[in-house]
Amino acid sequence: MNPDQPVALITGAGRGIGKALALAFADAGHAVAVNYGRSAEAAAEVVGSIVASGGVARAFGADVADPAQVDRLFSDVLAWSDQRLDVLVNNAGITRDALALRLSNEAWDEVLDTNLKGAFLCARSAIKPMMKRRSGCIMNMSSVVGLDGQAGQANYAASKAGLVGLTMALAKELGSRNIRVNAIAPGFIVSDMTETLDQAVRDALLQRLPLSRFGEPAEVADLCVFLATRAPYVTGQVIRVDGGLHL
Ligand code: NAP
Repeated sequence: MNPDQPVALITGAGRGIGKALALAFADAGHAVAVNYGRSAEAAAEVVGSIVASGGVARAFGADVADPAQVDRLFSDVLAWSDQRLDVLVNNAGITRDALALRLSNEAWDEVLDTNLKGAFLCARSAIKPMMKRRSGCIMNMSSVVGLDGQAGQANYAASKAGLVGLTMALAKELGSRNIRVNAIAPGFIVSDMTETLDQAVRDALLQRLPLSRFGEPAEVADLCVFLATRAPYVTGQVIRVDGGLHL
C-alpha cells in the first residue's frame, strides 16, 4: 500500500450509511477498511466497487461488541495498512425496540454492547496508531434520538446519548495529540433501519420535516469526509444531519 495514502476504518460498512461512508472515503482518496458483522457478501461488493474505480479497500469481519474480535480486527487492519490509521467511523449500530415496561435485559444489553461498548472498544484500539502519527479523526454515529429521546427506544436512545459523552471525553483526552473526536446525529436517513417504519409514521414525519424528505446516506457520509479532511479545528461537536427535524 502507498504509505502516503490515508487510511479509514468504517464499522458496519457493508450496507446503509456505512456503505456510503466507505464509498465516500474511497472517493476522497482513502484506503478503506470495510468492517462488517454479518453481511460478508455485501461488504465484498463494497470492496469490489471501490477497487473497480481504482481505489484501495479490504473487508474485515468482526462483531464490534466482542472485545476479542475487535482486537483481531485492529491487528488485521493495521497489518494491512502498515500500522497507519487516519480515520475511524464508529458506524455499526442496531435497534431492538420496545416500550420500557416490556424492554428485556437482553435487548438492553445487545443494543448497549453494540452501539456504545463497540464504539469504545474500537476508539481505544485506534488511539495508539493515531498517537504515533500525532493525527487522527474519530467519528461516532449517534442519532437525534440520543439527543431528544424517543418512545419505544430507551435502549437505543441511551446508547446514542452515551456516544455523545464518549465523544466529549475522548475529545478532551486526545486533543493535545491532535486526535479530533466528533459525533454525528442523523435524523431519518433512508436505509434498512428506516425501511421498517410504517406509512402513517412516515407521513407524519415528512410533515414535520422542514426539508420535507428523508436524508440520503451519502449526505451523512459527505459530512464525515468534510470533518476528517477539511475541519482541522473542529472537535467535541455533535452535528445534526436531520433536515431540520429539531426545529
Ligand atoms: P443499517 O442499514 O441497519 O446498518 C447497520 C450496520 O451496522 C450494518 O452494516 C451492520 O453490519 C452493522 N452492524 C450491526 N451490528 C454490528 C456488529 N455487532 N458488528 C459489526 N457491525 C455491525 O443501519 P443504518 O441506517 O445504515 O445505520 C448506521 C448507523 O447510523 C447506526 O449506528 C445507526 O444507529 C445510525 N443512525 C441511523 C439513522 C437512520 O435514519 N438510518 C438515524 C440515526 C442514526 P452487518 O449487516 O454486517 O451485521
